[in-house]
Amino acid sequence: SIDSNEKSSKVNHSSRHGQELGKQLTKDVSKARVESIDTDTCAPGDEDAFFVVDMGEVYRQHLRWKMNLKRVKPHYAIKCNPNPEVLRLLAELGTGFDCASKAEIEMVLDLGVDPSRIIYAQPCKTKSYVRYAAEKGVKQMTFDNTDELYKIKRFYPTAELFLRILTDDSSSLCRLSDKYGASMDTTKDLLLLAKDLDLNVVGVSFHVGSGASDPQSFARAVADSRIVFDQAYDIGYSLKTLDVGGGFSGDSGNLFETMADVLSKALDEHFPPNVRIIGEPGRYYVASAFTLACNIIARRDIVDPATGDTNYMIYLNDGVYGNFSNLIFDHQFVTPRVLSKRDTSTRSVEYSVWGQSCDGIDRITEMCTLHGVLDVGDWLYFEEMGAYTKCSATRFNGFTDNHDILYVSSEPGASALLNY
Ligand code: PLP
Repeated sequence: SIDSNEKSSKVNHSSRHGQELGKQLTKDVSKARVESIDTDTCAPGDEDAFFVVDMGEVYRQHLRWKMNLKRVKPHYAIKCNPNPEVLRLLAELGTGFDCASKAEIEMVLDLGVDPSRIIYAQPCKTKSYVRYAAEKGVKQMTFDNTDELYKIKRFYPTAELFLRILTDDSSSLCRLSDKYGASMDTTKDLLLLAKDLDLNVVGVSFHVGSGASDPQSFARAVADSRIVFDQAYDIGYSLKTLDVGGGFSGDSGNLFETMADVLSKALDEHFPPNVRIIGEPGRYYVASAFTLACNIIARRDIVDPATGDTNYMIYLNDGVYGNFSNLIFDHQFVTPRVLSKRDTSTRSVEYSVWGQSCDGIDRITEMCTLHGVLDVGDWLYFEEMGAYTKCSATRFNGFTDNHDILYVSSEPGASALLNY
């Protein structure tokens, strides 16, 4: 165990170094970009918000996964962020992909990925998409109800089916179990019906909820999956694969390692090595790789009549209808940081930060303290903006949902795969 502690401290040391390098590269590229823009004279939209992505961070997350979850083959949930460079890197790294629609399947196939590396992990599918999956040979798909079994019988009777079971997702930010997952008192009947229909059930899947915080939820779901494997065996199926879904934290703390440890122990307790294990991580891979830079387009001064102190409302050229859609749909909070400002003072000033749409709900940060008096034309940046941000942005009020993305790489391994 001394050896393994030493090993992990070396890896942590080098990954911290990589993260610091990535942050520096991101800042340098962002600064160079904003310094090249004169907001008094630029063409309309030249000062639009933009992303900087450190592909090295995606690469490091992959190594971290392999080190902590050896048994589990990741299938990146592309709904979280279908960025083409992220998909290209993960395809090169040999991951699988979790797709939820025809368009997502198409994006992955267009990269030359073999259909056997895709799971169509959507228990309630559109009929024509099932036909599309059949045509393309995307065999693996999930179900959790009887109607779906009849649909699959009609349109893709040879598909490889995963029975998605209900989990306790009460500790997660985005709960999924109100909508998906067969309760444990229905699994046997579903398997019996699948058998009657002569369908090919090959595994069990679950999802403990996105943004999960309780590692034990994985242990409980694995134990339930074992029960379903045994039910299937009694009915005449020999299930081969367990899909442990998403919900993994991508934070730089050790929640992921704790989750991985609890999950690995549960897998080893309940499933022999010949059972194939896959997962569907989304936010884990991309959250920390993306940084968003935004321009301050307007400011409103608020003077406290009692003290005479001034604080400010500042308005950015992005918002909750844009890339900050994660505040609404993904229940996140974000931290503004100063990228460039003209005021050289360092005094602490309070701000509320707002988006650009006409809607009062469009508030990014209720109150924050930043150094110096920020003004129109200055820039802020936000880290950890890779998960459930751009993918759920709208064009509300006529603003773009297609912001520029600049790429850097803080890992030679990623640079080599991507030819950067
Ligand atoms: N798999 C399925 C079926 C999902 O619905 C989701 C997210 O909603 C994911 C995987 C990815 O989850 P996460 O980003 O929490 O890892």
